[in-house]
Amino acid sequence: MWFTERLKNLEDQGLYRRLRTLESPQQSQCVVQGQPMLAFCSNDYLGLANHPALQTALVNALPQTGMGAGASHLVSGHHVAHVELESALADFLEFDAALVFSTGYMANLGVVQALVGRQDAVFADKLNHASLNDAMLLSRATIQRFAHQDTTQLASQLASSCAQHKLIIVDAVFSMDGDCADLVALLALAEEYDAILLIDDAHGFGVLGAKGQGSVFATGLAGHPRIIYMATFGKAAGAAGAFVVASHEIITWLRQTARPYIYTTAMPPALAVVALASLNLIAESHARRQHLRSLITQLRSETANLPYTWLDSSMPIQPLILRDNHLAMDISQKLYQQGIWVPAIRPPTVPQGTARLRISLSASHSHADISRLTTALFSCIS
Ligand SMILES: *Cc1c(COP(=O)(O)O)cnc(C)c1O
Repeated sequence: MWFTERLKNLEDQGLYRRLRTLESPQQSQCVVQGQPMLAFCSNDYLGLANHPALQTALVNALPQTGMGAGASHLVSGHHVAHVELESALADFLEFDAALVFSTGYMANLGVVQALVGRQDAVFADKLNHASLNDAMLLSRATIQRFAHQDTTQLASQLASSCAQHKLIIVDAVFSMDGDCADLVALLALAEEYDAILLIDDAHGFGVLGAKGQGSVFATGLAGHPRIIYMATFGKAAGAAGAFVVASHEIITWLRQTARPYIYTTAMPPALAVVALASLNLIAESHARRQHLRSLITQLRSETANLPYTWLDSSMPIQPLILRDNHLAMDISQKLYQQGIWVPAIRPPTVPQGTARLRISLSASHSHADISRLTTALFSCIS
């Protein structure tokens, strides 16, 4: 069969992906197939995935909520736990209203499809997350991709577009590069060309902003009527699920039309309770955010002399560019043998020729963990 050959091609190109199975909770010191590992892979930036307060919230919620939502929101699955979460999100992020989705992937599919169709156009950064790319394909709108962070190219695409409605979509923090979109410039273009701006803050929510309110809040753009802000509970929030906040009008429209909201069983209400508990933890996590920043500084200063290039990132996503797929795999493998788990990221997740180690830091790492990593990196690379 044709896929047998394709699987072999993946192997030959160093692109075959192997699963590693956790036998402990997700945390910096974890157990993988019987081995204790120091992990630098997860998006659990604040170290909340195994926080006891979230477990307690879940256990305490279950007698009130039961397990399954049993139906989609518009049928009978909408629970007071979802309502409370949405209202807390709108308050916390200073937007009019919020809408909860089961995952960030679904939120992106839902928003883009609900807002644009055949007569419309989507303008997307080339390094956007796969869920945004899939969302724009599904929407059937005309797709215009601009070079990474190239707002000049975006401006000329917007100027020459005769689409009925225009939607600009970007990652606020790019998931494989760790750099941040210029939200002020993007919003200015959205205003100039009467577009809406969808900002995916999967990696900024919880990490940026005085209380972890994320990229839009940190940039002073909270509540702007042209912005739709999306983030997930799966990353810094340490839980599961996702949400969108925007104006009342947009949220009302999404509730009526977003297919991954309408045609799927609602998130289990107990998980909405957990997400709310996580929101409260995020708001109080000043010390974790501060510690995380100090770990980033430590990693950058201890590894400045490595013979490969770090991307310019001030976020917990720290990519070391090795270019070659096999080299990236080889170094990742050598680290693994020393008990250090750092993923090699290869195409198609990143462009050809930009294979990398993607080190992600968490507030649950210690300074000693970072020193162990840097020592191991020097020993594997030289
Ligand atoms: C992880 C991620 C998503 C998807 O969120 P999930 O809740 O995990 O489905 C969307 N966008 C970006 C940029 C992401 O990194």
